[in-house]
Amino acid sequence: MPDYVIDAPVQPVVPVADGGFFPVRRVFCVGRNYAEHAREMGHDPSREPPFFFTKPADALVIAGADASYPPATKDLHHEIELVVAIGREATGIDASAALDHVWGYAAGIDLTRRDLQAEAKKLGRPWDMAKGFDASAPIGEIAAASRIGHPAQGRIELAVNGMTRQLGDIADMIWSVPEAIAFLSGLVTLMPGDLIFTGTPAGVSAVVRGDRLEGVIAGIGSVGTTIA
Ligand code: MN
Repeated sequence: MPDYVIDAPVQPVVPVADGGFFPVRRVFCVGRNYAEHAREMGHDPSREPPFFFTKPADALVIAGADASYPPATKDLHHEIELVVAIGREATGIDASAALDHVWGYAAGIDLTRRDLQAEAKKLGRPWDMAKGFDASAPIGEIAAASRIGHPAQGRIELAVNGMTRQLGDIADMIWSVPEAIAFLSGLVTLMPGDLIFTGTPAGVSAVVRGDRLEGVIAGIGSVGTTIA
């Protein structure tokens, strides 16, 4: 045991659907990866190269726990996303080899302080405080690829208080899972434990305290949280 001068941080983990836990190293996110969502955010959904941002691993909200409404925003948005869990190191790989590096998949929610993001965009500043705040990444159980395979299509849906707000299909991603992994592996060495949130379909909107969020991705899993 090293002679730590403070308590060591707790390792963030996500439960696996068939038992066990997936230890999380880093959380990457793909921006603007569905055409209809790019349009609703005022962008041209042309196939420009994917871009990425990050959240801290300890921003994950697991096992249906509540997500506290964060400070410094009046416009907290939900973004339902397919999450890829990396199980094998990847650096500079081709898309054709990318799925060999995937351990499993989950449904997640990229909570966003939209007002802070709009201000950051306007001023050319980083998105960190719009995206990477405490409890900004609710995630459901991880399903092992050895069990479910590598779904390339399937309904992705998010309901707030039982009303559908977002509805799409993961087949509609501008950059597919293998393409996103390949791109990201050209920027950093992906490591076991890394998660990639792969972008959200159209229909993002604001939530308030007390709202119940339920997301599902067909063939993969679900995610739920209450804004507390
Ligand atoms: Mn997102």
